Amino acid sequence: MREIKNHPILRFSRGERIKFIFEGKELTAYRGETVAMALYRHGIDVFSESAKLHRPRGMFCAIGKCSSCMMRINGIPNVRTCILPVQKGMIVERQKGLGDKPERTAKFMPPIERNEKVTIVGGGPAGLSAAITLKKSGITPLIVEQNPLLGGQLIKQTHKFFGSKEEHAGTRGIEIAKEMVDEVKRLNIPHFTNSSAFGFYTDRTLAVFKDNQLVKIKSDYFVFATGAAEKMIPFEGNDIPGVFGAGAAQTMMNVFGIKPGNRVLMVGAGNVGLIVSYQLLQAGVDVACVIEASPKIGGYFVHAAKLRRFGVPILASTTIKRAVGVSRVKKAITVKLDEHFKEIPNTEKEWNVDTVCLATGLIPSVTLLAQAGCEMKYIPALGGYVPLRNRLLETSLKNVFVAGDADGTEEASTAIMEGRIAAFAIAQKEGIDKTSELNETLDELKRLRSGPFGKKILSGIAEAENARLS
Ligand SMILES: Cc1cc2nc3c(=O)[nH]c(=O)nc-3n(C[C@H](O)[C@H](O)[C@H](O)COP(=O)(O)OP(=O)(O)OC[C@H]3O[C@@H](n4cnc5c(N)ncnc54)[C@H](O)[C@@H]3O)c2cc1C
Repeated sequence: MREIKNHPILRFSRGERIKFIFEGKELTAYRGETVAMALYRHGIDVFSESAKLHRPRGMFCAIGKCSSCMMRINGIPNVRTCILPVQKGMIVERQKGLGDKPERTAKFMPPIERNEKVTIVGGGPAGLSAAITLKKSGITPLIVEQNPLLGGQLIKQTHKFFGSKEEHAGTRGIEIAKEMVDEVKRLNIPHFTNSSAFGFYTDRTLAVFKDNQLVKIKSDYFVFATGAAEKMIPFEGNDIPGVFGAGAAQTMMNVFGIKPGNRVLMVGAGNVGLIVSYQLLQAGVDVACVIEASPKIGGYFVHAAKLRRFGVPILASTTIKRAVGVSRVKKAITVKLDEHFKEIPNTEKEWNVDTVCLATGLIPSVTLLAQAGCEMKYIPALGGYVPLRNRLLETSLKNVFVAGDADGTEEASTAIMEGRIAAFAIAQKEGIDKTSELNETLDELKRLRSGPFGKKILSGIAEAENARLS
């Protein structure tokens, strides 16, 4: 029922079916499908329940950044099912609250240790561009990626890119991802997928969980290109299954060919909210309306115009007050806001929707850097806590770099350039002269940020760099 049959851009080549066990019942998944997606395709919305109140929990981010989809897999609790591909015979169970201890029979392999020249955490546009640049400069890095596929957020962006001309403008994100991943493979750059980096310690060991095994990685240099996570906003019922990040809806539709719901309320009219709403329509999902707390929409006019052509209302000065439902959203209540963002009494409106998508901003994913003692600062213009760094993206930890959304949420074209800058900076430290390429990339990045949208980012970056110098 939830599979997308026809899509104007994408063809879903659903491969071989494999069987797995969900709470004693045999279900099928397509090879390569994650556990969460396979369950969701079978109409299963509830993956666990909350620790104290036993409220049903479903999936939220679909990119391995939150704890919403954690389940018990082959006797091991707290496994993020949104990034775990189904394997034949896998035993999947809902877990209660924080999950129990692993079963004695759960199989873990003994830890292994590796030494690398450069380790890149994150195989999105920033990480891939750092890897390609390093390899072309004569240094072979290792990429560690927690998702089954390389490409980061680009693998679900079916719309044409609005970055700079030099950086693929007019090309679809999915095509850029393919080009970069093909290049990584052509250059034989080693990469681990399905491998979560879960610890980065003061002795500069990176702990990675790969194939039920702990891999301890020591490296002369690190590049953290871990991207960003979608923001949750506070409202009653925000934990009901069917409340998703907009990016999660995008992953379901554009990577796995699954409809996130039948009728959606989109919260947030920035570019992400507008683009994903249009993509929902392309997937055959009804969009009831897009709401925006600010008096004006934040995204590009061209994206809003496409929605209006389809008759989707975009309501400014409006927020979500409540999602209603138990094991799935059944309704959503919106309310009008005054110029101080205060609710206007008696302006509530009820919407018959089964899905609420939140496109209310992204937060840089920086926990690993913070854990190792990297100096951080809260800079709202960059999306939240970000690592302090110099112009070449080296953090307060020597030879540890950051690139892409992890140092401030922007866009893929800037992420690609930042990956390149970090790579050139490492090459320079290794005595490989990349001065002219580095300066060219710095200039290009400056040009990219020279538009009206760049102003806010530049003020945030100045704060992050100045704090680092002082
Ligand atoms: C819905 C949506 C629409 C967008 N549309 C556009 C657009 O049209 N044009 C544009 O330029 N930009 C767009 N963007 C923004 C763009 O996708 C991001 O700015 C860009 O992908 C950032 O690249 P990145 O490499 O920094 O992060 P990501 O693409 O997020 O990649 C980070 C990678 O790191 C991995 N990772 C994270 N933590 C770990 C860990 N602990 N261990 C191992 N791996 C880890 C993640 O799995 C991920 O693959 C959009 C973003 C969203 C969410």
